[in-house]
Amino acid sequence: MLEVDNLGKRYPGADRMALHDVSFTVDQGQIVGLIGKNGAGKTTMLKILAKAQRPTCGMVRYNRQDLFAHPGMLDDFGIMIAPVFYPHLSAVRNLEFYLDVHGKSACRRNIRPVLELVELWDNRDRKPAGFSFGMKQRMALAIALVADPKFMLLDEPFVGLDPDGILELVDVLGRWARERSVTMIVSSHQLKELDSLCDRYLYMENGTLADQFDGKQPEVTVIALRRPIDDPGSLSVRFPDVSVSDARAMHVEIASDIP
Ligand code: ATP
Repeated sequence: MLEVDNLGKRYPGADRMALHDVSFTVDQGQIVGLIGKNGAGKTTMLKILAKAQRPTCGMVRYNRQDLFAHPGMLDDFGIMIAPVFYPHLSAVRNLEFYLDVHGKSACRRNIRPVLELVELWDNRDRKPAGFSFGMKQRMALAIALVADPKFMLLDEPFVGLDPDGILELVDVLGRWARERSVTMIVSSHQLKELDSLCDRYLYMENGTLADQFDGKQPEVTVIALRRPIDDPGSLSVRFPDVSVSDARAMHVEIASDIP
């Protein structure tokens, strides 16, 4: 569905690449976590996918077509990178205005279900200027969801939220994605926040894709043994989450639900 090939980005005047030689693919229906420390290049990556920045080199294909060679390629996209709502229009007017500007007035029927989903329906006639931080985040998410996107790009949607707010938003996103088979790339600097949401992770470091791995994989710690174990098989029988590869290294699965 999305193919990113050897993508690079150097901002004008910068002495180093903000992105360097990044390649990955995303299949339909996948929820991909884009993780990395501050400055790793996550926002730059998402801005390029949202066509808010042009890459210096490399190629992005969406459904096999060059993202930058055709207009209207973002029609399927729901984007939450920087807030795009008007603080002095009511929540409902913001969504109506967004849909009208994007030629998607037919999606006005989504306004109520989306505002209910993000729990802003009771505040629909209030202006976001007077919203709390969490409400503003949910307003931005409502805008990203309202036009029935097939592909969503969400940059740090949980930043600034308290733990309950994070759980609520993860739940909203997960339900929405599963019910509608929406593909998502969600960035965060904390893997833990994305834990129950993502199928796959892309880990960025200094502008490069340093690692990619599947979600919900058990964490394994490898312990080097000073002395070889006589009967490694018996250990695995007694402790199923422990395996001994060569009598000198013990692999221990760490359960994620240890309180
Ligand atoms: P954060 O979590 O802090 O938002 P990030 O992983 O999203 O970080 P980016 O914002 O993509 O990282 O930044 C990657 C690099 O590009 C950084 O070195 C940053 O200073 C630089 N950079 C980002 N935007 C610009 C810009 N508009 N002009 C010049 N350099 C920029």
